[in-house]
Amino acid sequence: MTVTTVEQFGSPLLEKVFRAPGHAGPEGDIGRWEGIVGDEVWAAEIRRLKELRNAVILAHNYELPEIQDIADHTGDSLALSRIAADTDADVIVFCGVHFMAETAKILSPDKTVLIPDEDAGCSLADSLTAEELAEWKSEHPDALVVSYINTTAAVKGLTDVCCTSSNAVDVVAGLPADREILFGPDQFLGAHVRRQTGRDDIHVWAGECHVHAGISGPELARRAEENPGADLFIHPECGCANSAIYLAGEGVIDPERVHMLSTGEMLDSARVAGEAGRGTVLVATEVGMLHQLRGVAPDVDFAPVNERASCPYMKMITPAALLRCLALGTDEVDVDEDVADKARLAVERMISVGTPGGGE
Ligand code: SF4
Repeated sequence: MTVTTVEQFGSPLLEKVFRAPGHAGPEGDIGRWEGIVGDEVWAAEIRRLKELRNAVILAHNYELPEIQDIADHTGDSLALSRIAADTDADVIVFCGVHFMAETAKILSPDKTVLIPDEDAGCSLADSLTAEELAEWKSEHPDALVVSYINTTAAVKGLTDVCCTSSNAVDVVAGLPADREILFGPDQFLGAHVRRQTGRDDIHVWAGECHVHAGISGPELARRAEENPGADLFIHPECGCANSAIYLAGEGVIDPERVHMLSTGEMLDSARVAGEAGRGTVLVATEVGMLHQLRGVAPDVDFAPVNERASCPYMKMITPAALLRCLALGTDEVDVDEDVADKARLAVERMISVGTPGGGE
């Protein structure tokens, strides 16, 4: 993607930034911008550049701690997209993965949206392409398409209504009973929706978050057994947690111990756990969320169900990438107007149903 509209600003730190190999994704090396430590010098430079650009920095909960700490707002993707739509800033710097920055652009088409590394993708979003969806639709011409929020703008543009994990069941339950449904891309969420609605006319795409397919039934059951007094916090908006939702529904773990919590609820529950002097809480989501939980309740032992549940795409937004982004005005996110108009309808329908939660 070429940068066309954003002015460049100088920074003495910029010459230290380089593209380093060795940052591993699920299918091999994906590299990332490195060369800068997220210290006070860096933080001061980020603030200077941010002011020059009249930018607002938004960081997803799964970002590196130093990125979360320098951001103006930290949250889930939908909350951040809403902040983006309301901001007076000229430039939105979205520290998250690409489909999230696209969603911000879809909801704020007149603003400049930058992502510090445009290669920060999502294995779940990539598991259903627009071409594949178009072909699937052609096999079921009368079906309605329901897509999880972790999809590209192009897929959203071919979708009737998007959903988050929190409102997927309500979205599907509200659709006409005489229309088949194509549900994608997450197979775990699709299976959950099928079971909850009792509808057998839902076709589910066999996609998943490959990064976190590691939150498996046996692992979840083992961790729960090892910590018999521990509650289990699941943030349902992470693609990686959809398997945990599915497994809890299958009775792999006692549902009484399972708490499906949005980000805000998770932080509130963490505070309550801290005040109650709770020992261990198991957390089934991306490990970046632990930074915030430990911040509000430092005496509670928040233990990840899977400590390898770290999204390498989220971790591509390094201090070096953010500096480069603010100094050079890159990488700019653009969504074709026609696609954005259709995608916006699907997202707005999602927002109007039940409790949509925050998106991942
Ligand atoms: S954790 Fe999985 S679903 Fe979430 S952004 Fe990373 S790859 Fe995508």
